[in-house]
Amino acid sequence: MDSVNTIKQDIQNQRMVNHSSRILLSQSALEQNLSFIRKKVGSEAIISSVVKANAYGHGIETFVPMAEECGIRHFAVASSHEASEVLDARTTDAAVTIMGILYDDDLHWVIEHEVEFFVFDMPRLKKALEVAQAVDKKALIHLEVETGGNRTGLPEEKLDEALQFLKKHVEHLRFKGFCTHFAGIETLANQFRIARQQQKFDELYNRVEEFGHLPELRHSACSAAALAFPDTVMDMVRVGTAQYGMWPSPDIYNMHLKQTNKLKDSSMKQLLTWKTDVMHIKQIKKDEFIGYGTSYQAPKDMITAVVPIGYSNGFAKALSNLGYVLIKGKKAPIVGLINMNVFMVDITDIAGVQVGDVVVLIGQQGEEKITIRSFSEFTKFINNEFVSRLPTAIPRETVS
Ligand SMILES: *Cc1c(COP(=O)(O)O)cnc(C)c1O
Repeated sequence: MDSVNTIKQDIQNQRMVNHSSRILLSQSALEQNLSFIRKKVGSEAIISSVVKANAYGHGIETFVPMAEECGIRHFAVASSHEASEVLDARTTDAAVTIMGILYDDDLHWVIEHEVEFFVFDMPRLKKALEVAQAVDKKALIHLEVETGGNRTGLPEEKLDEALQFLKKHVEHLRFKGFCTHFAGIETLANQFRIARQQQKFDELYNRVEEFGHLPELRHSACSAAALAFPDTVMDMVRVGTAQYGMWPSPDIYNMHLKQTNKLKDSSMKQLLTWKTDVMHIKQIKKDEFIGYGTSYQAPKDMITAVVPIGYSNGFAKALSNLGYVLIKGKKAPIVGLINMNVFMVDITDIAGVQVGDVVVLIGQQGEEKITIRSFSEFTKFINNEFVSRLPTAIPRETVS
């Protein structure tokens, strides 16, 4: 008994002590991004907020209520586990759709909790019926059809069978959606392929109409499609990247500028700020090496600050000797290698830095700003890859 209590105490104490960094999410930035997207897609289309990968690293638990505050009532994820996180986080009766992996033994939980899901093969559809009958609740199905992306998607030759099955078992299978996903619509060079996918989608939908058993919603658009290709917007759009304030690609940003006849647009705001604090300060003599190995040798007498973040915290090692952070509103360049949980920055030219001063890893401080995009340029990670790797353990917090 005693030992159980001791363990519980330990867990509680752990939660009261500090992590090495924190992530702040701006509610006003989210409102601005969603209203920008809303203007693009019109007032009718449902915006499904894509929160897979822990809300692209922003944190499902914190992000979901923020999105609900902005009127979002539909979320999309990649797995049952993520769906369960959304159910725990939501503060409304918002719907959740699983777009990816769904194990048979999770189907019971999924249907019981009225979680929607993509179906792209007959075995899943048949299993859904079986479980829906057992649970005595309707399975909420989005039929994802193959249009040329060749990832998931029901093959064209299975469409009639799937439609007949849906119609026959209408008491247990609700035909929520008919959808597809584009294979790289954010890149202009892919447009010939996207155009074929759109054409195929329309052709398949015509067959659904001829058959006469209609879905409630048709959807295909992701962020890039919703922002720059109005003819892809149907009853629902599935928006990830853009809601977090990231342009899906330079192509989409440039298309937007062209369409709106602007030279610059700051309608979308980065939600995320990532902060830590100076852990230690050191005087370095000219010609000394800094940190592991010999990758950085001081060209002059220097002062460095030690930052308690490393590659284990999602800060890419590729930023060694390349990236920078903000301290006292100024850029402090990274010197030496990024270690597992520490790196050093040059603060020689920043007056008065003290242990405990705030370090901005991503975000704004004074006039200076570090964008998620700037990381991608150094690391070759696309924006989404960088943010989605931010560890779930970092505490997230909502700010205005
Ligand atoms: C991730 C994903 C989206 C969202 O894509 P963004 O470009 O981030 O908006 C939409 N649909 C599917 C099927 C996805 O996997």
